[in-house]
Amino acid sequence: MSMTAVHRVFNFAAGPAVLPVPVLEEIQRDLIALPGVGMSVIEISHRSKTFEAILAQAESDIRTLGGVPANYKVLFLQGGASTQFSMVPMNLLDAGATADYIDCGSWAEKAIKEARKVGTVNVAASTKDANYSRLPRQSELRLTPGAAYLHVTSNNTIEGTEYKSLPETGSVPLVNDTSSDMFSRPIDVARHGLIYAGAQKNMGPAGLTIVIVRDDLLQRSVARKATLPTMLNYAVHAENNSLYNTPSTFAVYALGLVMKWLLQQGGLAGMATVNERKAAKLYAEIDRTGFYRGTAARDDRSLMNITFRLASEELEKRFVKESTAAGLDGLKGHRSVGGMRASIYNAFPEEGIDALVAFMRDFEQKNG
Ligand code: PMP
Repeated sequence: MSMTAVHRVFNFAAGPAVLPVPVLEEIQRDLIALPGVGMSVIEISHRSKTFEAILAQAESDIRTLGGVPANYKVLFLQGGASTQFSMVPMNLLDAGATADYIDCGSWAEKAIKEARKVGTVNVAASTKDANYSRLPRQSELRLTPGAAYLHVTSNNTIEGTEYKSLPETGSVPLVNDTSSDMFSRPIDVARHGLIYAGAQKNMGPAGLTIVIVRDDLLQRSVARKATLPTMLNYAVHAENNSLYNTPSTFAVYALGLVMKWLLQQGGLAGMATVNERKAAKLYAEIDRTGFYRGTAARDDRSLMNITFRLASEELEKRFVKESTAAGLDGLKGHRSVGGMRASIYNAFPEEGIDALVAFMRDFEQKNG
């Protein structure tokens, strides 16, 4: 049976999240046996020529999509973005040096907590007092001269804020947790020292983390080979082409299919146009009458995670219950902040936005 004949709800989940239907169809079609291979992608050796080709193609497509310069390595790791909270300082923060962090959201706060276990951290700015409803401005940053790096979170999944332009760091390497907006719009890789992202929002299934790291920063990992656990050393993964141990083979394959799909959508510029249009429609509805209230500062609003509230928690409960029943799934906000959150990543269809807007109008009419 074709996948399109199957009933699918509109999936607003924050991640793992909706994937492109053509990708799911290809996975379904080829799951029993990859064409010309006679085995399932989840049965083949990670050392086989077939998998090596899958990995190489995925890397090549990532490089094309992101315009990744030659002096950056692309790594396929496991342990989620949460493991990067530890790996980043373990690899890049020397004893006696300081790492600057921008405390712009709940995930940034977690990154800071882990970095403090490793070395000296300076919180360059924090908007925690404002419930992370806005992003710190450049002028608010108290940067450490000669810092090991500056860590930022480009999109704050829980609070629904997203940087429109990245902080200026001078010669200090910028480390960016792009877990929830990676490849949703063009990214200037050359502005970064290191980029990391869990795959399970815009790029593929869970179980895979993409790290893009500049060669000079990898040297810090080379210097730590004798002391760092092998699996936590970037240089080990880079030297072994992400095949030091068994990678998440299925997730690499599926991510590769999503990269191919992204290229067919006109690459990141094409995707950004669609994502801007989708988010604009939803924010316009939120702002239309005041019945709904966007929680993120307007200038900092995310195109990926759209957070809003209603007048009372009771009304919000009803909204979640009725929207779920109407086939609009996953709109309940993160448990730490409440309210509503519509996560509308790359693969989220525009019809789903239209369906949500229609539902919101109807709900307002009945409850306003
Ligand atoms: N950073 C951000 C911005 C996230 O949104 C998430 C997950 N939602 C994480 C880090 C943690 O990712 P993981 O669950 O892959 O460890």
